[in-house]
Amino acid sequence: MSIAEQAPAYIRGISPYVPGKPITEVARELGLPVDKIVKLASNENPLGMSGMARKAIEAALTGAERYPDQFDLVAALAERHGVDASQIVLGNGSNDVLDMVARVFLAPGRSAVFSQYAFAVYPLATMSAGAACLAAPARDYGHDPAAMRAMIRDDTHVLWIANPNNPTGNFIPNDVLKRFIGSIPAHIAVVLDEAYTEYLPPEARADTTAWIKEFPNLIVTRTFSKIYGLAGLRIGYGVAASEVADLMNRMRHPFNVNSLALAGALAALDDRDFVARSYELNRHGMVQLICGIDMFGIEHIRSKGNFVTLKVPNAAVINQRLLKQGVIVRPLAGYGLPNHLRVTIGLESENARFLAAFEKALTT
Ligand SMILES: *Cc1c(COP(=O)(O)O)cnc(C)c1O
Repeated sequence: MSIAEQAPAYIRGISPYVPGKPITEVARELGLPVDKIVKLASNENPLGMSGMARKAIEAALTGAERYPDQFDLVAALAERHGVDASQIVLGNGSNDVLDMVARVFLAPGRSAVFSQYAFAVYPLATMSAGAACLAAPARDYGHDPAAMRAMIRDDTHVLWIANPNNPTGNFIPNDVLKRFIGSIPAHIAVVLDEAYTEYLPPEARADTTAWIKEFPNLIVTRTFSKIYGLAGLRIGYGVAASEVADLMNRMRHPFNVNSLALAGALAALDDRDFVARSYELNRHGMVQLICGIDMFGIEHIRSKGNFVTLKVPNAAVINQRLLKQGVIVRPLAGYGLPNHLRVTIGLESENARFLAAFEKALTT
Protein backbone atom coordinates (compact mmCIF):
# COMPACT_ATOMS: atom_id res chain seq x y z
CA MET A 1 0.00 0.00 0.00
CA SER A 2 1.70 3.22 -1.14
CA ILE A 3 1.20 6.65 0.37
CA ALA A 4 -0.29 7.86 -2.95
CA GLU A 5 -3.03 5.26 -2.61
CA GLN A 6 -4.16 7.03 0.57
CA ALA A 7 -5.42 9.99 -1.49
CA PRO A 8 -9.19 9.91 -2.09
CA ALA A 9 -10.16 8.03 -5.27
CA TYR A 10 -11.57 11.25 -6.75
CA ILE A 11 -8.14 12.87 -6.56
CA ARG A 12 -6.35 9.84 -8.00
CA GLY A 13 -8.91 9.83 -10.83
CA ILE A 14 -7.94 13.29 -12.09
CA SER A 15 -6.12 13.39 -15.44
CA PRO A 16 -3.49 16.13 -15.44
CA TYR A 17 -4.07 19.28 -17.51
CA VAL A 18 -1.99 19.20 -20.71
CA PRO A 19 -0.78 22.70 -21.53
CA GLY A 20 0.44 23.90 -24.92
CA LYS A 21 4.10 22.92 -25.37
CA PRO A 22 6.39 25.72 -24.14
CA ILE A 23 8.64 27.37 -26.76
CA THR A 24 11.71 26.56 -24.67
CA GLU A 25 10.86 22.84 -24.67
CA VAL A 26 10.47 22.66 -28.46
CA ALA A 27 13.66 24.70 -28.90
CA ARG A 28 15.53 22.17 -26.72
CA GLU A 29 14.09 19.22 -28.66
CA LEU A 30 14.88 20.67 -32.10
CA GLY A 31 18.14 22.32 -31.12
CA LEU A 32 16.78 25.60 -32.51
CA PRO A 33 17.01 29.09 -30.98
CA VAL A 34 13.73 30.17 -29.30
CA ASP A 35 13.21 32.99 -31.80
CA LYS A 36 12.89 30.44 -34.60
CA ILE A 37 9.86 28.84 -32.95
CA VAL A 38 6.29 30.04 -33.50
CA LYS A 39 3.91 29.22 -30.66
CA LEU A 40 0.23 29.31 -31.57
CA ALA A 41 -0.85 26.89 -28.89
CA SER A 42 -2.12 28.72 -25.81
CA ASN A 43 -4.26 31.63 -27.03
CA GLU A 44 -1.77 34.21 -25.78
CA ASN A 45 -1.67 37.75 -27.13
CA PRO A 46 0.90 37.90 -29.97
CA LEU A 47 1.43 41.64 -29.33
CA GLY A 48 2.74 40.93 -25.83
CA MET A 49 1.40 43.22 -23.14
CA SER A 50 0.40 46.86 -23.18
CA GLY A 51 3.18 49.41 -22.74
CA MET A 52 1.21 50.99 -19.90
CA ALA A 53 1.02 47.65 -18.10
CA ARG A 54 4.76 47.09 -18.52
CA LYS A 55 5.56 50.50 -17.03
CA ALA A 56 3.24 49.88 -14.09
CA ILE A 57 4.78 46.46 -13.46
CA GLU A 58 8.30 47.87 -13.51
CA ALA A 59 7.26 50.58 -11.07
CA ALA A 60 5.62 47.99 -8.80
CA LEU A 61 8.97 46.22 -8.30
CA THR A 62 9.54 48.96 -5.76
CA GLY A 63 7.44 47.76 -2.87
CA ALA A 64 7.39 44.09 -3.87
CA GLU A 65 8.86 43.22 -0.47
CA ARG A 66 5.42 44.07 0.99
CA TYR A 67 2.33 41.88 0.83
CA PRO A 68 0.01 42.99 -2.01
CA ASP A 69 -3.13 45.11 -1.59
CA GLN A 70 -6.06 44.27 -3.90
CA PHE A 71 -8.02 47.43 -3.10
CA ASP A 72 -7.30 49.56 -6.19
CA LEU A 73 -7.91 46.85 -8.77
CA VAL A 74 -11.09 45.68 -7.04
CA ALA A 75 -12.36 49.28 -7.02
CA ALA A 76 -11.49 49.79 -10.70
CA LEU A 77 -13.21 46.53 -11.73
CA ALA A 78 -16.30 47.38 -9.66
CA GLU A 79 -16.50 50.73 -11.44
CA ARG A 80 -15.90 49.14 -14.85
CA HIS A 81 -18.78 46.72 -14.34
CA GLY A 82 -21.07 49.05 -12.41
CA VAL A 83 -21.19 46.70 -9.42
CA ASP A 84 -20.28 46.99 -5.74
CA ALA A 85 -16.68 46.23 -4.74
CA SER A 86 -18.05 43.44 -2.53
CA GLN A 87 -19.04 41.61 -5.74
CA ILE A 88 -15.51 41.26 -7.12
CA VAL A 89 -13.24 38.27 -6.42
CA LEU A 90 -9.67 38.35 -7.75
CA GLY A 91 -7.93 35.17 -8.79
CA ASN A 92 -4.45 33.90 -9.62
CA GLY A 93 -5.72 33.60 -13.17
CA SER A 94 -9.44 33.06 -13.68
CA ASN A 95 -8.60 29.39 -13.19
CA ASP A 96 -8.19 30.18 -9.50
CA VAL A 97 -11.67 31.76 -9.47
CA LEU A 98 -13.18 28.66 -11.11
CA ASP A 99 -11.52 26.57 -8.44
CA MET A 100 -12.95 28.79 -5.68
CA VAL A 101 -16.45 28.33 -7.10
CA ALA A 102 -15.95 24.57 -7.06
CA ARG A 103 -14.72 24.57 -3.47
CA VAL A 104 -17.62 26.77 -2.36
CA PHE A 105 -20.46 24.89 -4.04
CA LEU A 106 -19.19 21.37 -4.71
CA ALA A 107 -18.26 18.45 -2.46
CA PRO A 108 -18.35 14.64 -2.61
CA GLY A 109 -21.95 13.61 -3.25
CA ARG A 110 -22.60 16.64 -5.48
CA SER A 111 -22.27 17.06 -9.24
CA ALA A 112 -21.52 19.71 -11.86
CA VAL A 113 -22.76 19.95 -15.45
CA PHE A 114 -20.74 21.14 -18.43
CA SER A 115 -20.75 20.58 -22.17
CA GLN A 116 -18.76 18.02 -24.09
CA TYR A 117 -15.72 19.85 -25.58
CA ALA A 118 -15.93 22.59 -22.93
CA PHE A 119 -12.84 24.02 -21.25
CA ALA A 120 -10.73 21.30 -19.54
CA VAL A 121 -10.55 23.15 -16.24
CA TYR A 122 -14.25 22.45 -15.48
CA PRO A 123 -13.79 18.72 -14.93
CA LEU A 124 -10.52 19.42 -13.07
CA ALA A 125 -12.10 21.89 -10.65
CA THR A 126 -15.15 19.65 -10.24
CA MET A 127 -13.09 16.56 -9.47
CA SER A 128 -10.71 18.40 -7.14
CA ALA A 129 -13.76 19.22 -5.03
CA GLY A 130 -14.76 15.56 -5.02
CA ALA A 131 -17.90 16.13 -7.10
CA ALA A 132 -19.14 14.15 -10.10
CA CYS A 133 -18.77 15.41 -13.69
CA LEU A 134 -21.86 15.36 -15.91
CA ALA A 135 -20.88 16.12 -19.52
CA ALA A 136 -23.78 16.96 -21.83
CA PRO A 137 -23.45 16.05 -25.52
CA ALA A 138 -22.44 19.02 -27.66
CA ARG A 139 -24.38 20.24 -30.67
CA ASP A 140 -22.15 21.22 -33.62
CA TYR A 141 -19.24 21.21 -31.12
CA GLY A 142 -20.95 23.89 -29.00
CA HIS A 143 -23.02 24.05 -25.81
CA ASP A 144 -26.53 22.64 -26.23
CA PRO A 145 -28.68 24.36 -23.58
CA ALA A 146 -31.43 21.71 -23.71
CA ALA A 147 -28.93 18.85 -23.38
CA MET A 148 -27.18 20.59 -20.49
CA ARG A 149 -30.48 21.20 -18.70
CA ALA A 150 -31.40 17.56 -19.18
CA MET A 151 -28.18 16.47 -17.41
CA ILE A 152 -29.07 18.32 -14.19
CA ARG A 153 -29.68 15.98 -11.23
CA ASP A 154 -30.92 16.60 -7.71
CA ASP A 155 -27.31 16.72 -6.51
CA THR A 156 -26.16 19.23 -9.18
CA HIS A 157 -24.84 22.46 -7.69
CA VAL A 158 -22.70 24.01 -10.44
CA LEU A 159 -23.23 24.51 -14.16
CA TRP A 160 -20.19 25.62 -16.16
CA ILE A 161 -20.58 27.66 -19.36
CA ALA A 162 -17.73 28.98 -21.52
CA ASN A 163 -18.79 31.70 -23.93
CA PRO A 164 -17.04 31.77 -26.34
CA ASN A 165 -15.91 28.24 -25.60
CA ASN A 166 -12.32 27.04 -25.70
CA PRO A 167 -11.22 24.89 -27.59
CA THR A 168 -14.05 25.08 -30.13
CA GLY A 169 -14.68 28.83 -30.32
CA ASN A 170 -18.45 28.35 -30.34
CA PHE A 171 -20.56 31.25 -29.16
CA ILE A 172 -24.04 31.24 -27.61
CA PRO A 173 -25.96 34.37 -28.71
CA ASN A 174 -26.94 36.62 -25.82
CA ASP A 175 -30.69 36.16 -26.03
CA VAL A 176 -30.32 32.36 -26.04
CA LEU A 177 -27.76 32.54 -23.23
CA LYS A 178 -29.95 34.72 -21.02
CA ARG A 179 -32.93 32.42 -21.48
CA PHE A 180 -30.69 29.43 -20.76
CA ILE A 181 -29.39 30.93 -17.51
CA GLY A 182 -32.94 31.91 -16.51
CA SER A 183 -34.06 28.31 -17.03
CA ILE A 184 -31.51 26.87 -14.56
CA PRO A 185 -32.90 26.23 -11.06
CA ALA A 186 -31.90 29.14 -8.80
CA HIS A 187 -30.08 26.92 -6.27
CA ILE A 188 -27.46 25.93 -8.89
CA ALA A 189 -24.43 28.22 -9.28
CA VAL A 190 -24.07 29.13 -12.96
CA VAL A 191 -20.52 30.03 -13.98
CA LEU A 192 -20.25 32.09 -17.15
CA ASP A 193 -16.60 32.02 -18.20
CA GLU A 194 -15.94 34.93 -20.55
CA ALA A 195 -12.19 34.61 -21.11
CA TYR A 196 -12.55 35.67 -24.75
CA THR A 197 -15.30 38.26 -24.46
CA GLU A 198 -13.05 41.15 -25.55
CA TYR A 199 -12.61 39.44 -28.93
CA LEU A 200 -16.34 39.52 -29.67
CA PRO A 201 -17.53 41.97 -32.30
CA PRO A 202 -19.35 44.88 -30.63
CA GLU A 203 -22.80 43.67 -31.72
CA ALA A 204 -22.28 40.27 -30.02
CA ARG A 205 -21.25 41.67 -26.64
CA ALA A 206 -23.58 41.91 -23.66
CA ASP A 207 -23.26 43.37 -20.19
CA THR A 208 -23.67 39.98 -18.57
CA THR A 209 -22.54 41.17 -15.13
CA ALA A 210 -25.73 43.28 -15.07
CA TRP A 211 -27.71 40.01 -15.20
CA ILE A 212 -26.50 39.11 -11.69
CA LYS A 213 -29.23 41.34 -10.19
CA GLU A 214 -31.83 39.16 -11.86
CA PHE A 215 -29.89 35.88 -11.37
CA PRO A 216 -28.04 35.94 -8.01
CA ASN A 217 -26.77 32.42 -8.80
CA LEU A 218 -24.75 33.77 -11.78
CA ILE A 219 -20.96 34.13 -11.50
CA VAL A 220 -19.18 35.81 -14.42
CA THR A 221 -15.43 35.25 -14.81
CA ARG A 222 -12.94 37.27 -16.85
CA THR A 223 -9.20 37.09 -17.35
CA PHE A 224 -6.17 39.29 -18.03
CA SER A 225 -4.45 36.32 -19.72
CA LYS A 226 -5.90 36.74 -23.19
CA ILE A 227 -6.46 40.14 -24.82
CA TYR A 228 -4.65 41.96 -21.98
CA GLY A 229 -1.54 39.86 -22.58
CA LEU A 230 -0.71 39.05 -18.95
CA ALA A 231 -0.98 35.23 -19.00
CA GLY A 232 2.39 34.75 -17.31
CA LEU A 233 1.46 37.00 -14.39
CA ARG A 234 -1.67 34.95 -13.56
CA ILE A 235 -4.59 37.27 -12.89
CA GLY A 236 -8.33 37.05 -13.49
CA TYR A 237 -11.51 37.78 -11.57
CA GLY A 238 -15.10 36.87 -10.93
CA VAL A 239 -18.18 39.04 -10.53
CA ALA A 240 -20.95 37.59 -8.38
CA ALA A 241 -23.69 38.50 -5.94
CA SER A 242 -22.12 39.89 -2.77
CA GLU A 243 -23.12 36.86 -0.68
CA VAL A 244 -21.48 34.52 -3.21
CA ALA A 245 -18.36 36.68 -3.56
CA ASP A 246 -18.12 36.70 0.24
CA LEU A 247 -18.01 32.89 0.37
CA MET A 248 -15.46 32.77 -2.44
CA ASN A 249 -13.28 35.34 -0.68
CA ARG A 250 -13.29 33.12 2.42
CA MET A 251 -11.91 30.25 0.32
CA ARG A 252 -9.43 32.52 -1.43
CA HIS A 253 -5.81 32.37 -0.33
CA PRO A 254 -5.29 35.75 1.36
CA PHE A 255 -2.55 36.99 -1.00
CA ASN A 256 -3.48 34.95 -4.07
CA VAL A 257 -2.60 37.68 -6.60
CA ASN A 258 0.90 39.13 -6.59
CA SER A 259 1.63 42.85 -6.59
CA LEU A 260 3.11 42.92 -10.10
CA ALA A 261 0.00 41.29 -11.54
CA LEU A 262 -2.25 43.72 -9.65
CA ALA A 263 -0.32 46.74 -10.96
CA GLY A 264 -0.18 45.38 -14.50
CA ALA A 265 -3.87 44.57 -14.61
CA LEU A 266 -4.88 47.98 -13.27
CA ALA A 267 -2.86 49.74 -15.97
CA ALA A 268 -3.94 47.30 -18.70
CA LEU A 269 -7.60 48.05 -18.00
CA ASP A 270 -7.05 51.65 -19.04
CA ASP A 271 -4.99 50.91 -22.14
CA ARG A 272 -7.95 50.92 -24.51
CA ASP A 273 -5.70 51.56 -27.47
CA PHE A 274 -3.77 48.32 -26.85
CA VAL A 275 -6.99 46.34 -26.49
CA ALA A 276 -8.33 47.88 -29.72
CA ARG A 277 -5.10 47.02 -31.58
CA SER A 278 -5.19 43.47 -30.26
CA TYR A 279 -8.80 43.10 -31.35
CA GLU A 280 -8.06 44.37 -34.87
CA LEU A 281 -4.99 42.16 -35.22
CA ASN A 282 -7.11 39.17 -34.26
CA ARG A 283 -9.89 40.06 -36.69
CA HIS A 284 -7.47 40.33 -39.61
CA GLY A 285 -5.47 37.27 -38.53
CA MET A 286 -8.63 35.18 -38.33
CA VAL A 287 -9.48 36.08 -41.95
CA GLN A 288 -5.90 35.35 -43.03
CA LEU A 289 -5.86 31.91 -41.37
CA ILE A 290 -9.30 30.88 -42.55
CA CYS A 291 -8.64 31.98 -46.14
CA GLY A 292 -5.41 30.00 -46.04
CA ILE A 293 -6.88 26.77 -44.74
CA ASP A 294 -9.91 27.09 -47.04
CA MET A 295 -7.50 26.92 -49.95
CA PHE A 296 -6.15 23.64 -48.60
CA GLY A 297 -9.72 22.33 -48.38
CA ILE A 298 -9.51 22.07 -44.58
CA GLU A 299 -12.65 22.53 -42.49
CA HIS A 300 -12.77 24.64 -39.35
CA ILE A 301 -15.19 25.33 -36.50
CA ARG A 302 -16.48 28.88 -36.65
CA SER A 303 -14.77 30.72 -33.78
CA LYS A 304 -15.47 33.93 -31.91
CA GLY A 305 -12.21 33.71 -29.94
CA ASN A 306 -8.54 34.37 -30.74
CA PHE A 307 -8.05 30.85 -32.08
CA VAL A 308 -9.56 28.51 -34.62
CA THR A 309 -9.97 24.75 -34.48
CA LEU A 310 -9.29 22.80 -37.67
CA LYS A 311 -10.43 19.35 -38.69
CA VAL A 312 -7.49 17.46 -40.17
CA PRO A 313 -7.14 13.91 -41.44
CA ASN A 314 -4.50 12.80 -38.92
CA ALA A 315 -3.98 15.42 -36.24
CA ALA A 316 -1.22 13.61 -34.33
CA VAL A 317 0.92 13.19 -37.45
CA ILE A 318 0.24 16.73 -38.70
CA ASN A 319 1.10 18.05 -35.25
CA GLN A 320 4.45 16.25 -35.27
CA ARG A 321 5.24 17.58 -38.75
CA LEU A 322 4.41 21.11 -37.59
CA LEU A 323 6.61 20.73 -34.50
CA LYS A 324 9.52 19.58 -36.66
CA GLN A 325 9.16 22.89 -38.53
CA GLY A 326 9.15 24.82 -35.26
CA VAL A 327 5.41 25.56 -35.23
CA ILE A 328 3.52 24.73 -32.03
CA VAL A 329 -0.26 24.32 -32.16
CA ARG A 330 -2.62 22.49 -29.82
CA PRO A 331 -3.72 18.91 -30.48
CA LEU A 332 -7.14 18.22 -28.95
CA ALA A 333 -7.16 14.44 -28.43
CA GLY A 334 -7.45 15.10 -24.69
CA TYR A 335 -10.74 16.85 -25.41
CA GLY A 336 -12.05 13.85 -27.33
CA LEU A 337 -11.25 15.57 -30.63
CA PRO A 338 -8.47 13.36 -32.06
CA ASN A 339 -8.90 14.83 -35.55
CA HIS A 340 -8.66 18.47 -34.58
CA LEU A 341 -5.91 21.01 -33.98
CA ARG A 342 -6.44 24.37 -32.33
CA VAL A 343 -4.43 27.25 -33.75
CA THR A 344 -4.09 30.57 -31.95
CA ILE A 345 -4.28 33.66 -34.16
CA GLY A 346 -0.79 35.17 -34.16
CA LEU A 347 0.98 38.06 -35.85
CA GLU A 348 0.53 38.23 -39.62
CA SER A 349 4.03 36.76 -40.07
CA GLU A 350 3.33 33.95 -37.59
CA ASN A 351 0.06 33.05 -39.31
CA ALA A 352 1.95 32.95 -42.60
CA ARG A 353 4.60 30.68 -41.04
CA PHE A 354 1.86 28.39 -39.79
CA LEU A 355 0.13 28.25 -43.19
CA ALA A 356 3.36 27.42 -44.99
CA ALA A 357 4.28 24.74 -42.45
CA PHE A 358 0.72 23.39 -42.48
CA GLU A 359 0.68 23.08 -46.27
CA LYS A 360 3.91 21.11 -46.10
CA ALA A 361 2.59 18.97 -43.24
CA LEU A 362 -0.52 18.12 -45.27
CA THR A 363 1.31 17.18 -48.43
CA THR A 364 4.46 15.39 -47.25
C1 LIG B 1 -7.61 30.80 -21.20
C2 LIG B 1 -8.92 30.53 -20.55
C3 LIG B 1 -9.16 30.98 -19.26
C4 LIG B 1 -8.15 31.82 -18.56
O1 LIG B 1 -7.40 31.16 -17.67
P1 LIG B 1 -6.46 32.02 -16.72
O2 LIG B 1 -6.37 31.16 -15.52
O3 LIG B 1 -7.17 33.32 -16.44
O4 LIG B 1 -5.18 32.23 -17.43
C5 LIG B 1 -10.38 30.73 -18.69
N1 LIG B 1 -11.34 30.08 -19.37
C6 LIG B 1 -11.16 29.67 -20.62
C7 LIG B 1 -12.28 29.03 -21.36
C8 LIG B 1 -9.92 29.87 -21.25
O5 LIG B 1 -9.72 29.43 -22.48
